[in-house]
Amino acid sequence: MSDNTNTNTNATDADTDAAVDIDVDVDTPDKYATAPRSPEELTSDSPFTLPGFFAALDEGRLLAAACEDCGTRLVPPRPACYDCGSRNLKIERQPETGTVISYTEVRTPPPALADRAPYTIAIVELDSGARLTGRVTVPYADTEIDMPVSLSIRAPEEDERAMALEHELEWPIHEFEPA
Ligand SMILES: [Zn+2]
Repeated sequence: MSDNTNTNTNATDADTDAAVDIDVDVDTPDKYATAPRSPEELTSDSPFTLPGFFAALDEGRLLAAACEDCGTRLVPPRPACYDCGSRNLKIERQPETGTVISYTEVRTPPPALADRAPYTIAIVELDSGARLTGRVTVPYADTEIDMPVSLSIRAPEEDERAMALEHELEWPIHEFEPA
């Protein structure tokens, strides 16, 4: 019953994994490029918020906050470094390629995603050193440590929308596919 081949015959919309437009304006406006220092500076379109992060992701840009003091990259961006506490952070576009450093199989997903089980999730270290967790598009048996992967971004499907909160409904889904 699982659908590991990604040929979802129930799909009604024409979203495709290949629809990522990477030819977008990569310039982040200066006012949003560094970590906000006060609540007034932290508006919802800032990439330091989840709505701002997902809006950029929807345009094909995976953003991190890079700590200028210790080098840690935070995905999604946070206003303060969770490694050293610094607020000296800058938004940095991340590469879309990396390698699997850990993975597991989900057999008991949230009920809305039951038809997808079992599926694979992995922690991927991007070529920048940032780490990101996400689903892998191939079965557990076809995944391995150090496997090169690339990030794909797509619109959420019906079952994924079913488990999203209202403000998350349009947030894109990211997945890793073997590179
Ligand atoms: Zn730091």
